[in-house]
Amino acid sequence: MSDIAIPVTVDDIFGTMEKRVNPDGIAGVSARYGYEITGEGGGTWTVAVDKGKVAVTRGLESVNVKSIISASDFIALNLGKLDGMTAFTTGRLRVEGDMALMLKAPRFFKKYVPPAPAGVAAEAPRAELVVLRQILSIPQRFATGPIMGKFLSALKERKILAIRCSRCGKRLLPAREVCADCVAPATDWVEVGPGGKLTMYDITYYASPDPLTGESRETPYVSAHILLDGCEGQETFWHEVNPDHIPRMHPGARVWPVWNEQRRGAITDIRHFDVVDENDTAEGVAL
Ligand SMILES: [Zn+2]
Repeated sequence: MSDIAIPVTVDDIFGTMEKRVNPDGIAGVSARYGYEITGEGGGTWTVAVDKGKVAVTRGLESVNVKSIISASDFIALNLGKLDGMTAFTTGRLRVEGDMALMLKAPRFFKKYVPPAPAGVAAEAPRAELVVLRQILSIPQRFATGPIMGKFLSALKERKILAIRCSRCGKRLLPAREVCADCVAPATDWVEVGPGGKLTMYDITYYASPDPLTGESRETPYVSAHILLDGCEGQETFWHEVNPDHIPRMHPGARVWPVWNEQRRGAITDIRHFDVVDENDTAEGVAL
């Protein structure tokens, strides 16, 4: 059935709006909504909502708020293949004018159902799932504290500091205040690395999209446990390995950090670790 589906057009979406009005959704709303649909199959429309009625006309006329979006994204939005908030936060949907009015718009119409080819019964409209759409954005400041703060500050100076447990002597990386094994305070600082050896690693070829932005990070990327020089056993440091070096990776491979030019006291001050030759040292590695 989907093989012979009629292509969905922006025209048809606007053309069926008046028939798809959701009376509860437009109750009490009096405003003119403009749409600038860009690209092939696009155009401009005004959707006037007033006194429980909707009138759709071509062109933009005295609109209170305007949405700008590509024809393909607009169609995806109406087919439920693109989330409105995702489109907005990623800049694919732009809104000019009264944003509060725009937030009411998703309730104006019943779901758009694409036209069925001749001889095929139109798909029965399905009941909408009850969903809550919201984005939580809370500005926050975290104090890193004396231990993590010192560890992060050292990264600015291209130094990796571990802290030793006062009871078992285990080196903690990143530095923490308490040893998880002994529940004893960690007290003695010791500089380790920055070179080390790969112990375990994962290569990710398919990244799940970020639920908030819909963006996926670039792949492949490598998450690795690195036994830094001066560390033993399980005292590994988690970081990433340069994906260009995947062919050279093997357990025990020598690695060396690549530092960002601008360092701000964050774990990402180390861009990643490069796989280097066995005898490379600080002097031997191009930084
Ligand atoms: Zn311990």
